[in-house]
Amino acid sequence: MQSLTLTNEQLQKMIAHVDSLAPLEACGLLAGKNSTVESVIEVTNQAQSPVRYVMNPIEQLHAFEWIESNALDLLAIFHSHPTGPETISPTDIAEAAYDVVYVVLARVDGQWLARGFWIEDGSYYEVTLHIL
Ligand SMILES: [Zn+2]
Repeated sequence: MQSLTLTNEQLQKMIAHVDSLAPLEACGLLAGKNSTVESVIEVTNQAQSPVRYVMNPIEQLHAFEWIESNALDLLAIFHSHPTGPETISPTDIAEAAYDVVYVVLARVDGQWLARGFWIEDGSYYEVTLHIL
């Protein structure tokens, strides 16, 4: 996937979620169709850690079922880096398990920045985020 399209409202919903849980990392899913996001789904980070995230498996399963029952696709997994880095981390690359965009929300100088990445075979490239 080369780009992901989302609304500013969806971006602000993700930022509000990760900001409310900082300095712990927060995470969630983006569902939609044809690389256009239609829904932001918040998922609990059961690692409760400032440096890693593990999605609560029950919430994740329910989210997957909701996505399927609404005839949407899982487009992206987002998580925060409250103290950086702005880019995907070696741990993120090692643990990437899905063919989806990985969105990182990093807090830099008090501002949240969102970037998208596609991870494949241990390497990655940047995916453009189109904010409407
Ligand atoms: Zn990360």
